[in-house]
Amino acid sequence: TVRVRFAPSPTGMFHVGGARSALQNWIYAQQQGGVFVLRIEDTDAARNKPEWTEGILAALDWIGIEREGYEGPYFQSHYATEHRAAAQRLHTEGRAYYCDCTREAVQARSGSQYSGYDGFCRDRGLTAGTGRALRFRTPDEGTTVVVDLIRGEPTFENKLIEDFVIARGDGSPVFLLANVVDDMTMGITHVIRAEEHLPNTPKQQLLWVALGAQPPVWAHVPVVVNEKRQKLSKRRDKVALEAYRDEGYLAAAMRNYLMLLGWAPSNDREIVPWSVIEEEFRLDEVNPSPAFFDEKKLRAFNGEYIRALTVEEFIAVCGPWLTGTATIPPPPWQPAEFDAEAFAAVAPLAQTRIAVLSEIVPNVDFLFLADPLIDEAAWAKAMKAGAAELLDAAIAAYAAVTTWDAPTLKSTLESVGTEHGLKLGKAQAPVRVAVTGRTVGLPLFESLEVLGRERTLARLRAARL
Ligand code: GLU
Repeated sequence: TVRVRFAPSPTGMFHVGGARSALQNWIYAQQQGGVFVLRIEDTDAARNKPEWTEGILAALDWIGIEREGYEGPYFQSHYATEHRAAAQRLHTEGRAYYCDCTREAVQARSGSQYSGYDGFCRDRGLTAGTGRALRFRTPDEGTTVVVDLIRGEPTFENKLIEDFVIARGDGSPVFLLANVVDDMTMGITHVIRAEEHLPNTPKQQLLWVALGAQPPVWAHVPVVVNEKRQKLSKRRDKVALEAYRDEGYLAAAMRNYLMLLGWAPSNDREIVPWSVIEEEFRLDEVNPSPAFFDEKKLRAFNGEYIRALTVEEFIAVCGPWLTGTATIPPPPWQPAEFDAEAFAAVAPLAQTRIAVLSEIVPNVDFLFLADPLIDEAAWAKAMKAGAAELLDAAIAAYAAVTTWDAPTLKSTLESVGTEHGLKLGKAQAPVRVAVTGRTVGLPLFESLEVLGRERTLARLRAARL
């Protein structure tokens, strides 16, 4: 059976590129009737933190890779004995040798820039000892052909592959070896991972063969880049899946978008149900060139997904932004100020307007706060000459209306505007700023209807002080 694995290192927030690879592994396993293995590569003790592991598990769960559906998580650090045994075995069998060369020594011998190890210790027969690294003896002839579902058969000249280190001077095996040993132990048949690892692949394949196993089929999925075609980086770009989650991207939109990095469903469709992706995705159709992570497009996707929810679902998914969570900051109003009924009344208006769920807060805060949060620039712009007279007239008219509903409020303001020589759009601006604090937001008259006469009039009057 096909066995794939996702092998993240818990050294930081969970990268969107990692989420993409995880999903591709996940779907591939499913399509092949295979098994998805999760392995946490936690051997870099200096950089690992347990909370990053927790974050990975939670993020995978969020994106739809649920614990019941995979084998693991295994932890690389639990297999140190196996990693050491493999290094020893390669030494015993003459496939690896000890080396005490410093980088400077190698460079001095070559008389130029360091460009790989020169094989100086190959036949010196050094025994194990502190400060002696173990190097794998790579073949001098022939080629290593990597079978890659996405890249064909990248071919590497063995004589250009240096005798690389498999265990450090303190005896600890390096990542390259640990990764192979774990894949072998876990019976991995297909290694689907990011393109960044392609340069390691010939070395790793040589290790598989030297350890007497059938190398896996490889698939190196494209590097993910920003709009400047730079590899997405933690420092420069928003790369954490958690950041998107906390901003209010829906998991369904996110995973749909991630699967479009280097691949597309049939008939030029982009937004499709997950079942279509599960059916149509073909790993060998993934485009090997760098994939542009387009946040604007993702936003647009998310808006579409938000609009496809029922109002009840929309109200439910907004919950964390209305109350706050461990990772989502609390909204500006007090919990007791929140009015679920008022929210439900405006939710359909908001649902058609926001692209990410966190945008719900500035759209509805005017309903829950005792006083609206005034945007000074908006205020200055709306309260121009004539605004005071218009507001006075609006106050009088709104105090007198018999029915407090959106159509009446609209026609009333329309008449007030006409008396002041203002079209409805212009007449609305000072009213909107006085009541909501902003120049843009939900449709004004529906907002006023939900806010109620008393609070609307109080805010209009406050604006005149
Ligand atoms: N732990 C490695 C990483 O996070 C994965 C290497 C692999 O998939 O083989 O990049």
